[in-house]
Amino acid sequence: MAKHPDKQNPATRLVTGGRRPEWTGAVVNPAVWRASTHLYPDMAALDDGARRNEDGRFFYGRRGSPTQWALAEALTAIEPGAAGTMLYPSGVAAIAGALMAVLRPGDVLLMTDNAYDPSRAMGMGLLRDFGIETRFFDPMDVAGFAAAICERSRAVLLEAPGSLTMEVQDVPAIAAIARAHGLISAMDNTWASPLGFPVLERGVDIAIMSLTKHVGGHSDLMMGSAAAGPELYARLRRTAQALGQVVSPDDAALALRGLRTLGTRLQRQTASALEIAGWLELRPEVARVLCPMLPESPGHNIWRRDFTGGCGLFSFILKGGDTAARARFIDALELFGIGYSWGGYESLVVPVDPAPIRAVTPWPFAGMAPADRFGVRLSIGLEDTADLIADLDRAFAAMAAP
Ligand SMILES: *Cc1c(COP(=O)(O)O)cnc(C)c1O
Repeated sequence: MAKHPDKQNPATRLVTGGRRPEWTGAVVNPAVWRASTHLYPDMAALDDGARRNEDGRFFYGRRGSPTQWALAEALTAIEPGAAGTMLYPSGVAAIAGALMAVLRPGDVLLMTDNAYDPSRAMGMGLLRDFGIETRFFDPMDVAGFAAAICERSRAVLLEAPGSLTMEVQDVPAIAAIARAHGLISAMDNTWASPLGFPVLERGVDIAIMSLTKHVGGHSDLMMGSAAAGPELYARLRRTAQALGQVVSPDDAALALRGLRTLGTRLQRQTASALEIAGWLELRPEVARVLCPMLPESPGHNIWRRDFTGGCGLFSFILKGGDTAARARFIDALELFGIGYSWGGYESLVVPVDPAPIRAVTPWPFAGMAPADRFGVRLSIGLEDTADLIADLDRAFAAMAAP
């Protein structure tokens, strides 16, 4: 590993992070250490292992082995301000792990109204069953967020851009208010990754990612992460250990492989998404493109101010139409696979219907025609953009001629 990691830029850290010689040996990558049992040379070492509970120490498989440690260390290296990173078997598990680390019965969790649907479901289901109340706030209304804080508020969950509708909220402003009121803030940063939005540097306490998406990058693994400064990282770690969270070394090795090319893939997918989103904006079948990199998208100015990168995920809204027309469009696509998840090397499409998962903000957005409500979300992969545009063009023709 390089001798001066503190002086490296993120693109370099993506390459150098986690590659300790004691984990990699004589090759480039850490080995896949498949292990439940760790063997000790003698009784003294066994006692020592049981007494200490520190990162990077052999104990038992549930606390990981060098493969998982290398991935966690590489993620910490690209998250400025992080003391450590916990790994979880999925992004949802990371969100649950972070929230359970900071919330207790009687607390109120404030959640942005455009949060990932399973995050909402967690608030209204699992957390409610543990005596925690979730209240939603308008992602674009900073004063409304401040007004929603009460005695029992303990934490806030942010996400920017929000799932499906892609509004970019003023994270630094909300995080500063949260901190001033003693709330712990956590942010789902799956969209931008720390390369596009350094969460902790922007004043948020916990940085969460679904590694299933961009970091894995090849649609072949499920994993999540949560990173924080020293005090909160210790709490994340305690909670994850209490819940028995561990990820497989094979998946960790795949995620680490994906991480090495994250920057290059994000750059390429951002450029392709911009080109395709711009093309969609000019189509007569499209009412609105919700892509944070475009000026028309809600919170674009905040994106320009706070973000240093984008990705290939965005949505657009059809002009009028109905579910049958949208189904004709989606079914006609050949290069876009129909399926959940995103951030892989291959392009994907899903329908978007935000209305049922909104508590305090309207859908369609204020100012949009009520008939313009059927959305489509695209995840732009690494294919040639001209081919993707031709595919979309064909699908619009199929939509028009049933
Ligand atoms: C997919 C996703 C998650 C959950 O990740 P999984 O690894 O699928 O559990 C969390 N947040 C956002 C924004 C997502 O898109």
